[in-house]
Amino acid sequence: MPEKRKLENIRNIGIMAHIDAGKTTTTERILYHSGKIHKIGEVHEGKAQMDYMDQEQERGITIQSAATTVYWKEHQINIIDTPGHVDFTAEVERSLRVLDGGIVVIDGQAGVESQTETVWQQANKYHIPRIIFVNKMDKMGANFSASLISIEKKLTTSFLTCQLPIGAEDDLRGIIDLIEEKAYYFRLGDAEENFEMGEIPVDYVDKVKEYRQYLVEKVIEYDEEIASKYLVEGQKLTPAEIRSLIRKATLTGKNFPVFCGTAFKNVGIKLLLDGIVNYLPSPRDIPQISVFVPSENSPVQLEKTPNLPLALAFKIVIDKYNNKLVFFRVYSGKLTANSYVYNVTRQKKERISRLLRMHADKKEEIKEVTAGDIAAAVGLESTITGDTLGEEKKPWLLETISFAKPVISQAIEPKTNRDKDKLRDALEKLKIQDPSLHYRIEPETGQIILEGMGELHLEVSAERLRREYNVDIERREQKVSYRETITKKLENVEGEYKKQTGGSGHFARVKLTFEPNEGRGFEFVDAKKGQEMSNKDAEEVKEGIEEAMSSGLLLNYPLLDIKVTLLEGKRHEVDTKPGDFKNAAVLAFRGDGVEEKNKRVAELGVVLLEPIMQAEVTTPKESYGEILASLTSQRGVINEVTEKDERAYVIHAHVPLSNILGYTTTLRSLTGGKGIFNMKLSHYQKVPKDVLAEIIKKEKVIA
Ligand code: GDP
Repeated sequence: MPEKRKLENIRNIGIMAHIDAGKTTTTERILYHSGKIHKIGEVHEGKAQMDYMDQEQERGITIQSAATTVYWKEHQINIIDTPGHVDFTAEVERSLRVLDGGIVVIDGQAGVESQTETVWQQANKYHIPRIIFVNKMDKMGANFSASLISIEKKLTTSFLTCQLPIGAEDDLRGIIDLIEEKAYYFRLGDAEENFEMGEIPVDYVDKVKEYRQYLVEKVIEYDEEIASKYLVEGQKLTPAEIRSLIRKATLTGKNFPVFCGTAFKNVGIKLLLDGIVNYLPSPRDIPQISVFVPSENSPVQLEKTPNLPLALAFKIVIDKYNNKLVFFRVYSGKLTANSYVYNVTRQKKERISRLLRMHADKKEEIKEVTAGDIAAAVGLESTITGDTLGEEKKPWLLETISFAKPVISQAIEPKTNRDKDKLRDALEKLKIQDPSLHYRIEPETGQIILEGMGELHLEVSAERLRREYNVDIERREQKVSYRETITKKLENVEGEYKKQTGGSGHFARVKLTFEPNEGRGFEFVDAKKGQEMSNKDAEEVKEGIEEAMSSGLLLNYPLLDIKVTLLEGKRHEVDTKPGDFKNAAVLAFRGDGVEEKNKRVAELGVVLLEPIMQAEVTTPKESYGEILASLTSQRGVINEVTEKDERAYVIHAHVPLSNILGYTTTLRSLTGGKGIFNMKLSHYQKVPKDVLAEIIKKEKVIA
């Protein structure tokens, strides 16, 4: 394949779906039918090429994002893998930053499911043009019209039906292309995607006419010339004209072509590839991105083609041979192998030793990567996710990728003591690859605490330690990551750090006011009077408060939403050393010793906040009553119950995380394995008194 491709011929896309809708199978078939891999690996046999992490194959879900390149009809398609489970939404957000278009796969029998709605909303935020692929048209109960209704109800009314299936379930015979007005006849389940083109079946002729007209009328406004030919002159539009209209409509991010087929049985994938090329944007179609220019102190729109390299690192993968791969997207200029690049975020020159294009079955070494393209670099030692690679002389920054804070934690320890260092090393590597995973060492006990976005996230991370880094670990009970905050204002609080016992000593004194800052995070106001303190001293005070906040006052959970005002400070000509003001600030905040700390807790009205999850439980109708009771007995608040189909209900509820840990197991036993459970963080809420007493009792016992 020629390496240099016109920008117009590149597509950077992501494939998104609810778990089990068929994202992996669809990706897999795209890789196969575009001619890149030689053997189809079925998901249910655990051989899918895209899911190259063993564990994903076992679980049949895609956790990690990787970028894979395929070629189709003179176009280069970079597929950025996006995960489907809510525990990994950080991964989804990250991929959305660097892709230009998406395919949203839905199950033709189940219709639009909850996680699809979530990613749909996320993609809306980034105005990403999308094609909807109604998959599993071969499945029992598959129904295209019902799928369209569910798209209309849950995703968008601006969908553009481009195809109709001929038959459904076992009797799926083909696909009608409404634009070409042609039918493609398949042999269901052939290993190759072979089809014969033919006439539209007689009993579909009227329906095709109706849908085609409807389609044209929905997009006609996007081209004046074509509109006039159609509306004024009453001429029939050519397929090329309709495609051009659909492309324009889709690029606005407000209209969504709908395709159909079955990935599993190899129907409709090549037509979908045509759709990607025809309707999804090339990097040239994407609005200019904004960069942060330090001298301007605010974001500015990027010039058309500024003459400097600018790339965003969006994913780090460390393989078992300890090779670090940095996946990046180039926004301007180019990155070259065997050269230096400047990491603007870390202010550090870094060497790119090799550049790699990843295919499903091999890595291809390339010399350079130009604007609009995606590839992986070897050699960037300090670069992490969200960093900007650019030029030292013009240190422009791209917006970084932000990640949510963890809600759940779990103490872990190596099974053998010998593995202690190995574990620390492995955790550090995992963290670099997965920025939503955190770990910390408990100061008192030396215990390692792993923190993440959900139970599955921790479970998968622990498994990765074992498989990828050969560290066997014991896992303790999973715990909720609570937060603390204050509810009362406390003025003129003094903190003094003093060690003056002959010779050179230490001294700093500060006076601070603390007040609640609900929903606004940490705010530091420097209102110091007089010349006693320098700005650097004030900066130290801020650092001290931040450090003290990281381990709260009540139960050592991070403290949120507080405003601190620095009123005044006192330094000593000789004794005040760097770090003294920091210590004084910590003392003002925490007090000196346990008794003073407890007094502070009362004075500031410190309360514990708990994560409240938005939970969604799909239950067979016969288990509905029991499931409902199980949720309400766990402090759950039911918001809505919807009917999924004739067999199942979906319950939407808010439940405290502490009550719903391990609910998957409960659900499994109550529904005989038929229930489905998903949750994500909704908000933090004050823990009720009786529950707090329980938590204190438990934590004190453990401590
Ligand atoms: P993902 O979780 O969205 O990646 O979904 P997978 O691709 O892993 O598919 C989930 C299950 O649905 C697997 O058992 C697939 O074999 C099956 N599947 C995927 N596509 C189809 C399809 O078109 N028809 C049918 N009947 N099953 C499918």
